[in-house]
Amino acid sequence: MDLTYEQAVNFYRRNYRGACAYHLSDDSEKIILVDAVKHRCRFCGRSAPDVSFRLVAHALPELLGNKKLFSRYECDTCNTFFGEGIENDYGNWSKPMRTLTGRKGKNGIPTHKGGGETGWRIERKNNHFYINAGEDEHNRPFVARENHRVIDFALKCDPYRPMSVHKAFVKMALSILPEAELPNFRQALAWIMNFDHLEEVPILAPVLVSFTPGPARIDGITVGVICRKEDAPDIAPYAFLILTYGHESFQVILPSPERDAAIEGEELILPPFPQQPSQDGLLQVFSHDLRDTELVTEAVVQCTFEFESAQISSSP
Ligand SMILES: [Zn+2]
Repeated sequence: MDLTYEQAVNFYRRNYRGACAYHLSDDSEKIILVDAVKHRCRFCGRSAPDVSFRLVAHALPELLGNKKLFSRYECDTCNTFFGEGIENDYGNWSKPMRTLTGRKGKNGIPTHKGGGETGWRIERKNNHFYINAGEDEHNRPFVARENHRVIDFALKCDPYRPMSVHKAFVKMALSILPEAELPNFRQALAWIMNFDHLEEVPILAPVLVSFTPGPARIDGITVGVICRKEDAPDIAPYAFLILTYGHESFQVILPSPERDAAIEGEELILPPFPQQPSQDGLLQVFSHDLRDTELVTEAVVQCTFEFESAQISSSP
């Protein structure tokens, strides 16, 4: 039987405390996180002048629309390493939903296209979609119905490695956690710094994604880390990242062999972190196992949009 919203609230109240939380919106102030020692990198442990700190380090990837939360404790070398590695995989994996929910990165909201010069194209600007159906009606990743007011999308992700995506989530958590929490995540830190993707740390639970139906919420990211209380009565992993943007909320376990040795191998019964119930339909919860290390090239995200109005033109 599914646990109720109230039971989930009680579970997390009983067992967890908030370690940090940020809500970022167009109106919020810019936040720059710092550690006690200036110009020492949290990730590789090196200091200036061995490494430089010239680049602005986004504590959450810019492609999520983060223009507010930065850190001073990520060196340029690590910044580039994460950007070209795990954050690139995260970007490829999340691209369809970023288009569908209007996440504005450095180069705007991602565009999807295919089929060559006469092919299809999906673009989004703020709350408007611009869809060019292209000439080949058998080769479109969407189907329109009800006078084009309802569109079923089936958008492909760019190639990604699942474990790399999990690491990108963990990196976000390690970027926002208070310094005092870092000793609990030394092995997780070494894991995300390894270019090779191996299960060097036990991943005790899959990633949970809660999908909230309803109007698109373009602005805003809410992110935080919850950690187990010292006197937690239930069998519960040490820490989760909770990240919400667009229609989705992600609950990602943070590997902590330092704190979770005692519960390895135990059966975990975890209710999803409670989300506000939606007025536009049932909240849907999916579980994603992101432990795989093989490149995924054929993943497709399906989503139905109902628009207030649609304008159709036969020439571009
Ligand atoms: Zn570094």
